[in-house]
Amino acid sequence: MGAGAAAMYTVRELLQRSSTIRITVFEQRAEIGGLLRTAVSRQHNGIRDMVRLFDIPFGDDRVTVRLNVRVGVDISIPTLRRQFDAVVLAVGASRPREIGAGRIPDVHQALSLLSAVNSARPGTPVLPLRGPATVVVGGGNVALDVVAAIARGLVPTRSGGPVTQVTVVTRSPVGRPSFTLSALYELAELDATVTVAPASELGDASDPVQRLLADLAHRPATSAEGRRARSIVLSFGHQVTSVRADGDRIRVATAAGRTFTADSVVCATGFTVAPPAGIRLGDGGVVANRHGRVVAPDTDVPIEGLYVVGWAKRGARGGVGDNRRCAAETVDRLVADLLGAEAAQAP
Ligand SMILES: Cc1cc2nc3c(=O)[nH]c(=O)nc-3n(C[C@H](O)[C@H](O)[C@H](O)COP(=O)(O)OP(=O)(O)OC[C@H]3O[C@@H](n4cnc5c(N)ncnc54)[C@H](O)[C@@H]3O)c2cc1C
Repeated sequence: MGAGAAAMYTVRELLQRSSTIRITVFEQRAEIGGLLRTAVSRQHNGIRDMVRLFDIPFGDDRVTVRLNVRVGVDISIPTLRRQFDAVVLAVGASRPREIGAGRIPDVHQALSLLSAVNSARPGTPVLPLRGPATVVVGGGNVALDVVAAIARGLVPTRSGGPVTQVTVVTRSPVGRPSFTLSALYELAELDATVTVAPASELGDASDPVQRLLADLAHRPATSAEGRRARSIVLSFGHQVTSVRADGDRIRVATAAGRTFTADSVVCATGFTVAPPAGIRLGDGGVVANRHGRVVAPDTDVPIEGLYVVGWAKRGARGGVGDNRRCAAETVDRLVADLLGAEAAQAP
């Protein structure tokens, strides 16, 4: 179920292990690729090119791909379990984690914004922000992807002018940010001044992330080309408690009583699994499992013939390539169970 990166690696593994296997992939969208196609930044060419890896397994004669079929709505899991020897949940984890913002105009979800940017043909408008100041809530790689998209001028304002100020409000402490070094390198390439707050709490300079943050904090306001076009503020250590509209401004309040005000807010506070009907989540908001075997969350007993892989199994962490080993682990269990069942039936 699902045709994202985790499904692709799972199909590939299964095909390598059996010449007679038959696989049907059910995907709710009109195209395969999952987040790799919709969310991964166009600037990450090497990663986006991985969508070509789908061609061989998904084009194999042993594989049938059924698009526009939403499992749990168009076909139920009990029906699939009756029709197939094994069912693998590869449905990802792309439901935005709520921060109590509800539906407020000019408060957007990172995934909607990035999907709009990635799918827009050159010259076509994407979801516009209200004015020149935007707050991004959250401080992981997805938050920095949002900052990069805005700072590259890919997200205009409704007046047509640019967003000139982006403030990232994250609960991570400055000494232990949630983004990776490569995401920070990408931010460093943007034509922007960067303020790190509180800079006084920057950690050990032998850590490359801390060193780069310190370098960015000392970056001059002008470059060889002149005054930098945008200002990025990375503000650490804030537990956001509410996001609300106040006239034509949005106010982001923190547990310590601080308020950030902006024209628009983009929430990049992580993702959870949207389980298909009949599947219950376990601890950590993922499908309860042991090494890929789905288990009943209350008893921890495996549910026969049901498996999980990818972000639905591990949570919304890790890149496309991490799904490879994850898929091998799940397929190991699946094959062991099928062979065990065959051996048990042998005379
Ligand atoms: C904004 C963003 C940027 C990222 N950038 C990078 C990057 O630069 N580099 C990198 O390595 N990784 C990146 N990642 C991580 C990468 O996208 C994930 O590792 C990967 O997509 C997880 O694969 P998956 O198959 O588990 O989930 P997904 O890619 O989400 O695939 C799940 C599939 O299941 C389908 N589905 C869901 N429910 C159903 C249902 N009920 N019935 C049928 N189909 C269903 C979905 O439509 C989807 O196609 C990024 C993630 C995000 C959110």
